Amino acid sequence: MGKILNVNLTTREVRDEPLDEASCRDYIGGYGIGAKYLYDRMPKGVDPLGPENLLGFFTGPLTGTPCIEGNRFVVVCKSPLTNTWGDANCGGTFGPHLKFAGYDGILISGASDTPVWLRIEDGQAQLCDAAFLWGKDSNKTEDELKALMGESNERGNRKKVEVASIGQAGEGLSLISAIMNDKGRAAGRSGVGAVMGSKKLKAIAVTGTNEIPLFDPEETKALRKKYTKMTGGAHELFVNYGTIGITGESSMTGDSPVKNWGGVGPVDFPSGKTKFEQDTLIAYQDKKYGCWQCTMACGGHMSVKEAGPYKGVAHHKVEYETAASWGTMTLTDDFPAMIKINELCNKFGFDTIASGVTAAFAVECYENGILTKEDTDGLELNWGNSASLVALLEKMGRREGIGDVLADGVKRAAERIGKGSEKFAMHVHGSEVPMHDPKFMPGLATTYKMDSTPARHTQGHEDMPPVLEGWPEHEKYEYTGKGELHKHCMEMVHVTNAAGVCLFAFLSYDWNFIPDFLKSVTGWDFDTDECYRVGERIANLRHAFNLREGLNPLRFEVPSRLIGDPPQTTGNVRNVTVDIDTQVREYCQIMDWDPETAIPSRQRLESLGLEAVATDLHG
Ligand code: SF4
Repeated sequence: MGKILNVNLTTREVRDEPLDEASCRDYIGGYGIGAKYLYDRMPKGVDPLGPENLLGFFTGPLTGTPCIEGNRFVVVCKSPLTNTWGDANCGGTFGPHLKFAGYDGILISGASDTPVWLRIEDGQAQLCDAAFLWGKDSNKTEDELKALMGESNERGNRKKVEVASIGQAGEGLSLISAIMNDKGRAAGRSGVGAVMGSKKLKAIAVTGTNEIPLFDPEETKALRKKYTKMTGGAHELFVNYGTIGITGESSMTGDSPVKNWGGVGPVDFPSGKTKFEQDTLIAYQDKKYGCWQCTMACGGHMSVKEAGPYKGVAHHKVEYETAASWGTMTLTDDFPAMIKINELCNKFGFDTIASGVTAAFAVECYENGILTKEDTDGLELNWGNSASLVALLEKMGRREGIGDVLADGVKRAAERIGKGSEKFAMHVHGSEVPMHDPKFMPGLATTYKMDSTPARHTQGHEDMPPVLEGWPEHEKYEYTGKGELHKHCMEMVHVTNAAGVCLFAFLSYDWNFIPDFLKSVTGWDFDTDECYRVGERIANLRHAFNLREGLNPLRFEVPSRLIGDPPQTTGNVRNVTVDIDTQVREYCQIMDWDPETAIPSRQRLESLGLEAVATDLHG
């Protein structure tokens, strides 16, 4: 087995610890093993921005291997945004290179008095002074650390250095700040950047030449060959466009929220159909980009060629979530401004979803007279005013004026502004809602409420393709009889995320590749049923983390605009009111969670090998 690096920032101690094989088998990796470490080692009730919060970076067993899209790592902590379990999944190249540097994960405790960065080189770790980096954006930080550690592309002297860092948003403890790598890949959600900032840890830089052992190298190679031919689902979309390719259509179908969840695409944002049409947007792409050894390369680099205020801006391709949260939500169809906003978010280190939702909230407050020009430092925050949005984001990054009011996300902003603004704050238990509408995919309503990271669209639900093998197509607006399918979809996604595999591969290849690669890489006996079982164990442990904190997701409110209460009267999802109560009730039944307290039954916990959790929750 591999090892993790324990770093205590208070005492400056760095210490290797072997990975426990039994725990890896039970929780796989990523946020699965992360939940195991944090549940076991962190008491309840810690201040998420205090030194007791643990911050983990965990790869999965398939990270850095020949597995299709095996390149992810997950950041875990107690979220300062929601005070719940927190995690944020990220691609790029950092995860594989952390393993090449000798570690499967890093567990950071304590807090430093002064800024530091963590240097890891071929199994040797060292804390270094980061005063020269503090105040710099994530892109500059990455450049400087790569140069300092001697990254080289010279033939015969090649050395890759990868950096995960925070920008000014994380330094300023913004509760919607991200941890960035590859200058445009974000561990974006749960406010993980603020936790890193609270520890005064500016960056982690890794390099190394460690080889990742494979249980059956020949079989692993053969599986890659076999499964790369078995494409389907969203494969073509990811290869040709990336996520940005759905923006125009989604704004019309009701998938994307429009006008801060209060509008209807064809009525309120008709220009989205053409201005955000996939071929129009892909014309901004200069070249494709993929995370480490990705077969699809859904990413890219874009630039603004046309005349205007953003001419010459060049940055990572805008993702769908960014274009929808900053564009469709604010009725802004100025795509060059979206490229600029994406650049600013990535450099400051903001979660693009949360920051966009917060901006849309501010616009609706302004349009309704809750915020005035005096409150916004002179910015005219009308619907569709892209220049004001760019200026607003810059203020958020610097925590200046109205930017300071908004920099901690929509829930805190509504609390600070008052005057009834809460009704425009689209969040579940403090977490900004992402860009997929439950009225279009009703299964999401259950996920937004019940997943341990509230308001998360990447945790699996019955309306997310692929429909699992052996399951018939279901009628999405039929609200009964879907609990088990929701559960299994969620379990498969937990296994995908824990294994270190990009979720887009799960949506684009025969999903049997995941248990097959787990077998060939680790030697563990894995099949579909075992995936379900491990996924359920991970779900229960993350959930138990929240229960131990005294939280009950059944009390979390899902904003009425999300579920169509009252229903919209025009558009593709008109007359839809999602029966979230029935969906959640059936989900709790199938999970064997109490319908009032959401506490899992002792019997179910014990059947999953969670005896200690059963004792914690039942005595
Ligand atoms: S599909 Fe996209 S996000 Fe996923 S690994 Fe490939 S490039 Fe990265």
